[in-house]
Amino acid sequence: MLERIGDPTPYAESRPLVIDDLDLGAPGPGELLVRIEAAGLCHSDLSVVDGNRVRPVPMLLGHEAAGRVEQVGPGGDLAVGQRVVMTFLPRCGDCAGCATHGRTPCVPGSAANNSGELLGGGRRLRRRGEPVHHHLGVSGFATHAMVDRRSVVPVDDDVPPEVAAVLGCAVLTGGGALLNSARPGPGDRIMVVGLGGVGMAAVLVAASLRKELGSEVIAVDTLPEKLSLATELGADRVFTPAQLAEWGDQAEVVVEAAGNVRAFETAVAATAPGGTTVTVGLPNPEARASISPLGLVAQGRSIVGSYLGSAVPDRDIPEYLRLWREGRLPVERLVSSRIRLEDINAAMDELAAGHGLRQVIIFD
Ligand SMILES: [Zn+2]
Ligand SMILES: [Zn+2]
Repeated sequence: MLERIGDPTPYAESRPLVIDDLDLGAPGPGELLVRIEAAGLCHSDLSVVDGNRVRPVPMLLGHEAAGRVEQVGPGGDLAVGQRVVMTFLPRCGDCAGCATHGRTPCVPGSAANNSGELLGGGRRLRRRGEPVHHHLGVSGFATHAMVDRRSVVPVDDDVPPEVAAVLGCAVLTGGGALLNSARPGPGDRIMVVGLGGVGMAAVLVAASLRKELGSEVIAVDTLPEKLSLATELGADRVFTPAQLAEWGDQAEVVVEAAGNVRAFETAVAATAPGGTTVTVGLPNPEARASISPLGLVAQGRSIVGSYLGSAVPDRDIPEYLRLWREGRLPVERLVSSRIRLEDINAAMDELAAGHGLRQVIIFD
């Protein structure tokens, strides 16, 4: 749980996450108590910890998780024991945002996320009687979570907990950048800039499309270890940013998943005439990039922003699971280590240093 934010010292020295006992109460109408089985550490958690994304505190972090339903609120449709993927941008199904089929976020869902509440309103977490904010309606860094029914997607028991967890953020975001936002055509080269969990998930999904599209898959990162893994996972070419500049060629579809301005500029510059840059990273809100408007006009290029891969989770997760069951989307390869909740501060440091893909907390 994050107690304070905006500390000017680097996260590695501040170590602000504490583990404590919270009271969750019983689920109300439309709510579920879920026993968490696995929760991934994502850069968006780190962004809250290091102050790049300002959120209300105290907050129980964690937005990429999976578990089993332990209690169902009155009138609920899921059975106790059902395995669920948590999704961090609940969709109410009724608002103008939901009517865009994923292109823009749900309006009440975003408002609830920004105020640290559940989609149905209110906070269910109490620490010694005082309310604690939910993180994106999930708060998965805990043994249990109280969630809105609309924040979960049920999955079958054959989906292991860590696979289910990373579907909820890394795969929905990285895969959706391609399938929902860029929609590559036959022969389009697909480049991914920034190989964290989201970027590597985009590489996996791009590689899974190769049979249909004949796409060449290109991966870009500053760390050689990430580039070797991208090659193992199906990238045809890998580059550091310096090597990319030397290569001098471009791709029709470029996904930026690093969340910093340099990576965004690199991605735009590497987009071929007529092509599309999809940006899914979450830089500091004050960040500003330098790109050439003429380059967009004269070469007919597009830049598209995509939050959570413009996903509709209950539409998209079954599709990724189909590819996973066919052996075409080895989502488990995104899990770089399995850790305990007690190790979360050291794991945040690892994440800040850019190592690993998905460190997943396992609960048993
Ligand atoms: Zn995430
Ligand atoms: Zn909505």
